Amino acid sequence: MPVTQAPVWNFYAGPAALPRPVLQQAQDELLDFAGTGMSVMETSHRAKPYVAVQADAAARLRELMGIPDTHRVLFLQGGATLQFAMVPLNLRRAGQPAAYVHTGEWAGKAFQEARKLGDTTLLGSSEDTRFDRIPSLGSPPEDLAYVHLTSNETVQGIQWQAWPELGDAPLVADMSSDILSRPLDVGRFGLIYAGAQKNLGPSGVTVVIVRDDLVARGPASLPTMLSYATHVKADSMYNTPPTFAIYLLREVLAWMAKEGGLEAIAARNRRKAARLYGVIDKHPDLYRGHAQREARSHMNVTFRLPDPAIEQAFLKLAEAHGLVGLAGHRSVGGCRASIYNAMPEAGVEALALFMEGFARQGA
Ligand code: PMP
Repeated sequence: MPVTQAPVWNFYAGPAALPRPVLQQAQDELLDFAGTGMSVMETSHRAKPYVAVQADAAARLRELMGIPDTHRVLFLQGGATLQFAMVPLNLRRAGQPAAYVHTGEWAGKAFQEARKLGDTTLLGSSEDTRFDRIPSLGSPPEDLAYVHLTSNETVQGIQWQAWPELGDAPLVADMSSDILSRPLDVGRFGLIYAGAQKNLGPSGVTVVIVRDDLVARGPASLPTMLSYATHVKADSMYNTPPTFAIYLLREVLAWMAKEGGLEAIAARNRRKAARLYGVIDKHPDLYRGHAQREARSHMNVTFRLPDPAIEQAFLKLAEAHGLVGLAGHRSVGGCRASIYNAMPEAGVEALALFMEGFARQGA
């Protein structure tokens, strides 16, 4: 009997909700994948059935995102966090600093890692207003190795809504928490990376999309596993890839195509975000949105209630109503509703109604 709806609505920031039909299919074929008589987890990564899965995952990602021929798709491990190091290790060039935009928790971590590894500069920061906006950027210095930004700050709930014009330096983006949430001109970016566990699949696989000319930049002295060139040459099979995670990622991509692709998903995401921000705006005495309006994230809706005791009461009651995972990140507290692609509008509606009811009760 297919289970089409979750018993709870999952608002965790990541790992996060996966589309129910994807989980259902994984369950159906868990013991016998594609007539092999074994699980996809037990299949050699060099055997045809699995090789086809990985190739199809890359092809589907290309198709959905419109990735141009100039860019390679890689499936790596180590999370987005390892990319904080791999990007500067591979893309920095002698005499050229790497530039970062500091918009919150994750941009800060990427910046700190790059600083450990060489010459790094800050192009802008919104720290002075507790990362509630995208900072305006001065004109960038000449001769940057690359410019790094975090397209969506998962913790603060801040999202870039337009890309900066920054001259010739390749743009590098951590898109861990909003990849595939909206159409994107991939050609504008030198490199995009994303841990899978929000919009792409389960944790354990990291997608990297990198322009050909940047792959060759890495010095020969890099440890083999830290070099993009290694993984491009081996088609992400230099060592054993996280096969089950990639299999699920492929199923998520197939689900997205069935849902109408990026335009349809983006329209749904806009409606979902508008519904929750609408409730926040309607009850400003109770719900205090963190992000300034023009920087509001469509993926992570962050807000506070008047004091921690009310927040705790809100979270407890929400959980009793089957609304799970609404506590803010441990570094900032407050509340956060993560509404990635797999969160249906019905789940957002359930939360919006709950928030309205809670506001009425308290009023
Ligand atoms: N960047 C962003 C924007 C994130 O949200 C996260 C994880 N929440 C990370 C990087 C770190 O990802 P990982 O745990 O895959 O290393």
